[in-house]
Amino acid sequence: MSKILIVEDEESIAELEKDYLELSGFEVEIENDGEAGLKRAISEEFDLFILDLMLPGMPGEELLTLIRKKCDIPVIVITAKDELDDKIDIFAKGADDYITKPFEIKEVIARIQVQLRHKNKDMVSDLITYGKLRLDRKAHRIYISDEAVDCITKQEFSILELLMEHPKQVFSKEDIFEYAWDEPYMGETKTLDVHISNIRKKLKKITETEYIETVWGIGYKLKE
Ligand code: CA
Repeated sequence: MSKILIVEDEESIAELEKDYLELSGFEVEIENDGEAGLKRAISEEFDLFILDLMLPGMPGEELLTLIRKKCDIPVIVITAKDELDDKIDIFAKGADDYITKPFEIKEVIARIQVQLRHKNKDMVSDLITYGKLRLDRKAHRIYISDEAVDCITKQEFSILELLMEHPKQVFSKEDIFEYAWDEPYMGETKTLDVHISNIRKKLKKITETEYIETVWGIGYKLKE
């Protein structure tokens, strides 16, 4: 569940935001002044901040600047200031988005979802490389040097993805199966072995290098 901190001194607005965000499945905390907001923002883990600008204790602009020095979490500013210069200034200070009061709560939720989607995308890189092997999550393709491996199936792709994400780790057949098939492993190893063998054959069309190592009695890992 994503956790959001709202820093807003008008309690009725803060409560309204909190109620709707909770209904949309977010966990929400509120602080009513800038200094308390800053303390909370740096001492707890949040996924997103919603900041008002005109705050007692510390102006939202200053709070934003200080938060930006500490972390890279998405910040949406919600404020009554609606001059273009205010907006430009607030983006320059590191806000990710800006909503003017009065606002539609549905829009706030939609904008939060966009920010969280970006955040999650940034965390997972599209590319993983291992030696000459390259996996492209966006294109859903595997390359060796720059040559694409033909006809990689969904499961074969997932198996390589898991092994390449943790190149030193030995994975049990059970772990690999549950990751690639997204269903419980019923002790039947032949399906996985066939898929591994197919991956090896497909890679072999391009390279002599063996990438997958069988760890007898356990499962598979990438060859060092
Ligand atoms: Ca205010």
